[in-house]
Amino acid sequence: MKHLPAKDRYQQIEYNRCGRSGLKLPLISLGLWHNFGSEDDYANARKLALFAFDKGITHFDLANNYGPLPGSAESNFGKILKEDLASYRDELIISSKAGYTMWEGPYGDWGSKKYMVASLDQSLQRLGVEYLDIFYSHRADPETPIEETVDALEYAVRSGKALYVGLSKYDPEQTRLAYEELGRRGIRCLIHQPRYNMIDRGPEGGLFDCLEALEMGAIVFSPLEQGILGGRYLDGIPSKSRATRGHFLTEERALNWQRLSRALNEIAGERGQSLAQMAIAWVLRKRVVTSALIGASSTEQIAQNVAATEKLSFSEQELARIDQIVTE
Ligand code: NDP
Repeated sequence: MKHLPAKDRYQQIEYNRCGRSGLKLPLISLGLWHNFGSEDDYANARKLALFAFDKGITHFDLANNYGPLPGSAESNFGKILKEDLASYRDELIISSKAGYTMWEGPYGDWGSKKYMVASLDQSLQRLGVEYLDIFYSHRADPETPIEETVDALEYAVRSGKALYVGLSKYDPEQTRLAYEELGRRGIRCLIHQPRYNMIDRGPEGGLFDCLEALEMGAIVFSPLEQGILGGRYLDGIPSKSRATRGHFLTEERALNWQRLSRALNEIAGERGQSLAQMAIAWVLRKRVVTSALIGASSTEQIAQNVAATEKLSFSEQELARIDQIVTE
């Protein structure tokens, strides 16, 4: 049966302005890297997307290669859009990216204009939409001149195939170069998508300063470190958890962080939160972070994660204890 979105969805979560732009994003956005592919359960994927929308999560993040199989997360989300959310397109922020291997041959990867433009067209087709809200360069290409990747981003905006453009995993220098090149062409670079969480603090080493100086927003991915900081592995390896699939997170790695996540979980408990909720609040404490980009395999996880926004502040002591546990 066709889904009727919850009437109170915009009372469920707050929205942050993305850098110096007119666009607001929900404090929590949903990523479709896992659980939305052709090898996953479509009924569950549909349930997750619609539940998220009911919770006020307006932003869904994809990439050309999300699956498995590559492309299938976009196709599945396209189906959900068509069957359930067709009349809500103007309430949705849909992003996709190009930058990783998508098809064979010299034009199926990295940052050439040839690849990026073809990939954008394919993404639109799979999603069944006329435009993306945000189109990203998924990674900086060390061999393609940055001007050419920017050509592709400029084309996306000028052709109306994307409203905004963003960068993912660019270092501060690459970010500044791409931002300035886009600016020379009259296009503002909206957003950066880096990895950031309590145990991976890479962006604190210069990227966040750069984004603040450029007045760009940041949407940080894997705030739960793929479930490790979600408390998923506090008592072992649950069946059907991401670590059991072993593609991007192995059981060994999940267990290696068990002692640390248990110690962090104690602080979360004292705050009246789950570890997942504290981990989300922790990334959102930074002013430059517009949105925490989570993944989820169940609606319960989404509900719990949205409730994280009820307590975002930290005392100095809590922050110091977290730092101590992570650096021990
Ligand atoms: P997270 O760190 O949020 O990990 C998500 C996983 O954590 C879930 O699949 C689930 O694991 C577990 N989890 C979520 N909520 C809870 C909870 N409340 N309690 C316990 N466990 C929980 O994010 P992802 O690594 O999935 O990345 C999120 C998104 O970021 C991606 O979908 C993608 O859009 C984007 N991304 C971008 C990248 C880039 O290069 N730009 C790279 C990687 C991600 P389980 O499935 O085991 O239940």
